[in-house]
Amino acid sequence: MQNTLSSERLIVGTGLHSGALVRLKLRPAAPDTGIVFRRVDCAPNVNQIAVSPETWVEASLCTVLQNAHGVRVSTVEHLLAALHGCGIHNAIIEIDGPEVPILDGSAAPFVAQILATGIRRQDAPLKVVRILKPVEVTRDGAIARLLPAPALEISFEIEFADTAIGHQSKALEMCNGTFLRELSDCRTFCRRADVEAMHSRGLALGGTLDNAVVFDNGAVLSPGGLRRTDEPVRHKMLDAMGDLYVLGLPVIGRYEGVRAGHALTGRLLQALLATPDAYEIVTCDDQMRMRMPGVGITPRDLPLSA
Ligand SMILES: [Zn+2]
Repeated sequence: MQNTLSSERLIVGTGLHSGALVRLKLRPAAPDTGIVFRRVDCAPNVNQIAVSPETWVEASLCTVLQNAHGVRVSTVEHLLAALHGCGIHNAIIEIDGPEVPILDGSAAPFVAQILATGIRRQDAPLKVVRILKPVEVTRDGAIARLLPAPALEISFEIEFADTAIGHQSKALEMCNGTFLRELSDCRTFCRRADVEAMHSRGLALGGTLDNAVVFDNGAVLSPGGLRRTDEPVRHKMLDAMGDLYVLGLPVIGRYEGVRAGHALTGRLLQALLATPDAYEIVTCDDQMRMRMPGVGITPRDLPLSA
């Protein structure tokens, strides 16, 4: 079974890097559509950007997709994490600008809107990507790898000099609403020095203390502090959940990230596809379906902090 949204939903917000106000509409789509962005501010014959490894382009600060006409959409990762975590397989995402709104810096506002529309089951078999052999990429001491596992699992490890972050590691199996309960409300984070450097380069123009957790030499500057003591590593797991969905299909396997970022996870997916005996695309059977991320989710799974 595939899933789409029951109805349309409008989301309005500001892009983290562009600072531009964007209107985004989540719309239902037919079986086997996948997740497709539609830039309504561009000409109709060039404005579709399918979520696929073929549209992924390497970028360091966020995840960027670009079609063959050079039309792109950026900062897609938190929305893709929400769609992956809610088990939405088909959707059209209309957007009138180049960057998905950052909202509160987590995936929770997207999850709330998806749950508010409702999830509609579609009578069509679901294809999944099952990992058969380990695949790994590394860069400057950072590691991203995929391993065989009976369900989607994500583990992450980070190490930051700022004592308020330090060393954090966590691993979770993403079945039955775990993503919603454990990760969806965890916000993006940065150090104050990095924000100032980005502003001077014209980046993160929409960044505020309301859409990112800002750390400064052991202190948390954002009002209200952290939503979880290990919110940073949980956010990195959230990012991985979104970046894995660039495959365009749910993943059955274990992702492990050590200080990895969007670019490295994207390169991992490219490495996977370049290793045909490391994966197979199969129809989701009953045993797999029981442990899919979106099975059995309800609005009660969304944390109160969100
Ligand atoms: Zn993120």
